[in-house]
Amino acid sequence: MITLKEALKLNKNEIKELRNNLTKKIEEKKNLGAYIEQLTNEEINTNGEGIPIAVKDNIQVKGWSVTCSSGILQGYVSPYDATVITNMANADLSAFGRTNMDEFAMGSTTATSFYGKTLNPADSERVPGGSSGGSAAAVAGGIAIAALGSDTGGSIRQPAAFCGCVGLKPTYGKVSRYGLTAFSSSLDQIGPITQNVEDAAILFDIIAGHEPKDSTSANIVHTPIAPKLNPNRKLKIAVIENFLNEASEDIRKGVQNAISALRSNGHEIVYKNMLNSKYDVAAYYIIATAEASANLSRFDGVRYGKRIEDKNLKGMYVKTRSEGFGDEVKRRILLGTFVLSSGYYDAYYIRAQRVRHLIKDNYERILKEADLILLPVTPTTAFKFGEISNPLEMYLSDIYTIGVNLCGVPAVSLPVGKSDEGLPVGVQLISKHYDEQTLLDGAFSLETILKGK
Ligand code: GLN
Repeated sequence: MITLKEALKLNKNEIKELRNNLTKKIEEKKNLGAYIEQLTNEEINTNGEGIPIAVKDNIQVKGWSVTCSSGILQGYVSPYDATVITNMANADLSAFGRTNMDEFAMGSTTATSFYGKTLNPADSERVPGGSSGGSAAAVAGGIAIAALGSDTGGSIRQPAAFCGCVGLKPTYGKVSRYGLTAFSSSLDQIGPITQNVEDAAILFDIIAGHEPKDSTSANIVHTPIAPKLNPNRKLKIAVIENFLNEASEDIRKGVQNAISALRSNGHEIVYKNMLNSKYDVAAYYIIATAEASANLSRFDGVRYGKRIEDKNLKGMYVKTRSEGFGDEVKRRILLGTFVLSSGYYDAYYIRAQRVRHLIKDNYERILKEADLILLPVTPTTAFKFGEISNPLEMYLSDIYTIGVNLCGVPAVSLPVGKSDEGLPVGVQLISKHYDEQTLLDGAFSLETILKGK
């Protein structure tokens, strides 16, 4: 598949041809189930005539049905464009196809989607990761030039790692959330999933920037990263030694591979320890579910999508929500409502906020001593469908990604090789707030060394 960098050089006619070819390819790879239109036998949704970019089903595109892959949003048609869609249009990029996801972005497999599952292009018996699994499978499967995803606790980086592409979670506030259906407002960020690091920088430059309509959008001028991307800067990179214990052999090999590559190119590697990652999981699943329970209260059959009528208003709410939401979403609404309830608020929610602060201090302390942090993205390579059935076990697979969201710093995941079984292995780099330049310089350097090997 042509890269975004190459696509940006095409003229109008060539883009038209590209769009036609892509439509054909998408049809050929229907079995992947990366696009919701493929799962519902509809024609691919398009918006404008620009370079086609696949968009996760929780980002508003005017005139599209945007459903967060949920039953409750069936029938809802978006009346407006998210800021990222407007920013893409200004750069001649157009939303093209909505990609499958875990319902309301809650999950790590894309298997909780109302529409059915998406397959991992590297092995169809395995999950593509989630929640942005459709976006990652589309890029890795050669049926998207690039895609947008959202990352609340790893949903861009983890599917990118499972499928073998690049995923960037920007600094919180760098890319506007206006038009992104909120899961956990203090953690969510939209970001690119691409074929390589340079494309991630290019797409990030296009979607980043201040949005006055979004009070969580950072009011700072965005300096483009891509034109200054430099693989030759020598950086100090901290490896978190005590975090490696939980990773499988394959993943540890991948990290070692990345360390040797970075060293061979003159980067300095230092070893550090961090607060046990079990605290990340505990704090994240309290804060994320608390915010989700509040955010999802708006889906009640009155304003959006599906309504199941009943004899009175309360009955209508109960029936609509009972039938509209899937099991995982209900589980999180219940947990979130519980931790916010008056008797437990201090014991769970307030305490989780304190732990969040501690985790943030931890990351910031290490990022004062080093330019970047290097971590695995996941404890294992992509697992098989049905392999993890216990929700708590699934939550534990997020140990390496959620700290970054609690802290708000940017992180990028990129492929560093294959396991013995031929499955993609990724690592992630993490930088200081608003320092996507150093982050992507480091990632570009690592990618360049590994490609040259
Ligand atoms: N796997 C995490 C969760 O289930 C991350 C989700 C996300 O980033 N949207 O919450």
